[in-house]
Amino acid sequence: MADYDVDLFVIGGGSGGVRAARIAAGHGARVMVAEEYRLGGTCVIRGCVPKKLLVYASRFRGEFEDAAGFGWTVPQASFDWTTLIANKDREIARLEAAYGATLANAGVKVAKSRAVLLDPHTVQLAGGERVRAAYILIATGGAPSYGDPIPGIEHVISSNEAFHLPQLPRRVVIQGGGYIAVEFAGIFAGLGSHVTLVYRGDNILRGFDDDVRRHLRVEMEARGITVLTGCKVAAIANAGSHYSVELSSGNRIPADRVMFATGRHPNIGKLGLKEAGVEIAGNGGIAVDKYSRSSAQNIYAVGDVTNRVNLTPVAIREGHAFADTVFGGKPTAVDHTDVPTAVFSEPEIGTVGLTETQARARLARTDVYMAMFKPLKATLSGRDTTILMKLVVDGPSDRVVGCHVVGEGAAEMAQLAAVAVKMGASKADFDATIALHPTAAEELVTMRKKTASFVREAAE
Ligand SMILES: Cc1cc2nc3c(=O)[nH]c(=O)nc-3n(C[C@H](O)[C@H](O)[C@H](O)COP(=O)(O)OP(=O)(O)OC[C@H]3O[C@@H](n4cnc5c(N)ncnc54)[C@H](O)[C@@H]3O)c2cc1C
Repeated sequence: MADYDVDLFVIGGGSGGVRAARIAAGHGARVMVAEEYRLGGTCVIRGCVPKKLLVYASRFRGEFEDAAGFGWTVPQASFDWTTLIANKDREIARLEAAYGATLANAGVKVAKSRAVLLDPHTVQLAGGERVRAAYILIATGGAPSYGDPIPGIEHVISSNEAFHLPQLPRRVVIQGGGYIAVEFAGIFAGLGSHVTLVYRGDNILRGFDDDVRRHLRVEMEARGITVLTGCKVAAIANAGSHYSVELSSGNRIPADRVMFATGRHPNIGKLGLKEAGVEIAGNGGIAVDKYSRSSAQNIYAVGDVTNRVNLTPVAIREGHAFADTVFGGKPTAVDHTDVPTAVFSEPEIGTVGLTETQARARLARTDVYMAMFKPLKATLSGRDTTILMKLVVDGPSDRVVGCHVVGEGAAEMAQLAAVAVKMGASKADFDATIALHPTAAEELVTMRKKTASFVREAAE
């Protein structure tokens, strides 16, 4: 590798790239990272972290409302968007600096620049500087997609801009049915905006368990969010003091902001992939094998740019596995099954494993255990809400293959349930576990009655 300027050049200083760079340097590699925006990437700068901070902010509304039933008198609460955003920005800047320090401490050089490939071993920085690398890792992440162009599309913001709005919009129209759309619906509604969620499909959160989708929609509507399905935004007109949003149904809604959360695409544009011999897969991401190696022998790709499972811990795991494989002498493939995931909607969702629909398509017999109940806290607060818990079980083996929760604490529950599901725990193992009382989670080990059982019909 002496013929090269560096052993590894990483394009993209986000979750996957930073982890890969640090671990590779730890294995003794000479590493350089290029980041065109801010170190930390989507998750830290305009994804998971700032979003969760905004989610926390939005949940105080419910807490203030619930407090009365417990004897508290809370004076009329008021909210200041500018304070929240300034505090959030301070924390994000601190994290960005921490990422920089981590890389510096590991001996990784950082170029604050866009990088593109000129050939399989050469990267060019924005100033024209060329760096020759033995290995290159593409970890450029993804970016918001806006769908087909419509009149007035220039008025639309994505989640990127939502984190930096100068003021809290009074009325927001959000188009999209995925997790970012429902999370921002909850954020804006909790902070006091009137929110209309517009989604062209028949229900929100396609790909999640159908009971979860139905339950969340009911709960969101109970919190005052208008959910319009089966239609889409057709045009947006600037009406002076606000926007007039025309829907495909013909209805018009006034809005102070229009946000699209209509999916994300891998950042592969103008990267020089063709020049380097890197091929694109059918999913629109960089095609890679189980070790994240692309069609070019010395070029690898991890994280959202491969469009496999687009979550931060997955990008981190892939980046780590890449470094161990190439520089640590330990070939490591990432297992993408049973990845737990959460939706920080209000109420939140925590889930791991198969949905009922997926299980029924794959298993000879699927047993379902489901419970819906009023949480203890809601008895005194008077809040009209229910928690949903569902276990999907492989009938013949009794193995729990899916766990889905909608309600307070669901994400925390899913992380722990994921350990059991990953280990192959059976429903009998869940039942043998003594409940922790009084919690909502105890329902997961006390659901005795099967609510449904489905035998797969033999293929013709
Ligand atoms: C609003 C939102 C909320 C999210 N919430 C969650 C969540 O709660 N939990 C979760 O697990 N995941 C969440 N995600 C997804 C998560 O952020 C991504 O899966 C994760 O950041 C992917 O990491 P990555 O390393 O692949 O890419 P990124 O973190 O996107 O990093 C890529 C980096 O590459 C840089 N870059 C791109 N092209 C170039 C170039 N040519 N030269 C130099 N630099 C370049 C970019 O500026 C960026 O910093 C969320 C995403 C969004 C948008």
